[in-house]
Amino acid sequence: MIIDNLKAVTQRISRSCEKSGRPPADVKLICVTKEASLSQIEQVLALGIKDIGENRVQDAALKYKAIGDKATWHLIGHLQTNKAKEAVRIFSLIHSTDSIRLAKEIDREAKKIGKIQDILIQVNTSGEASKFGLAPDDVAEFFREVSPYTNISILGLMTIAPEVDDPEKIRPYFRKLRELRDELNDIRYTIYDIRILSMGMTNDFEVAIEEGATMVRIGRAIFGEK
Ligand SMILES: *Cc1c(COP(=O)(O)O)cnc(C)c1O
Repeated sequence: MIIDNLKAVTQRISRSCEKSGRPPADVKLICVTKEASLSQIEQVLALGIKDIGENRVQDAALKYKAIGDKATWHLIGHLQTNKAKEAVRIFSLIHSTDSIRLAKEIDREAKKIGKIQDILIQVNTSGEASKFGLAPDDVAEFFREVSPYTNISILGLMTIAPEVDDPEKIRPYFRKLRELRDELNDIRYTIYDIRILSMGMTNDFEVAIEEGATMVRIGRAIFGEK
């Protein structure tokens, strides 16, 4: 049952916050609906969820058509530059900005419709070849390059941890994202206040919260395994 799953997830989030001395309001739950039906999405919205995460622009476009601005839409999957236009139309926050070229394209499309598009930078903290995202060492350069672009607003960083059995093993990757954020803010490479850390999924969100996540992206723990 979605209602029970959601309650359990919310409780686990609160407990992890408590454990790490953080107020529960620090952590926003992004409900990942890539495997969910429209009626399941309606259910979570009725239960008070506002933030919906989708990983494909095409799928999100269909759902957006039905649900519209009743939800706040988050793009969490890889974005191709040729879909930037559609993404800017739908999403409040694009978590998966992973190249300077893409950031410029998002800026260009946002400018056309008079929007300031909020984005996160996806960072490949584990260095796995299969993962999208900037290398941690390239993030400062990214900020320098995109700082003239006025129709994007960079609010934080996102990472996807490697899939391992023991969530403790991935703690270092979450920690790395937090340290990178703190470093960027200290050095003031940027006019931005880099606050958001989007990290943690069904298998690892508790560790992510302990390491400072401000957004967790959770699907299976709410909708069940496919
Ligand atoms: C699918 C997905 C999630 C949610 O994963 P679950 O294991 O279902 O919680 C989070 N982030 C991204 C980028 C995803 O693609």
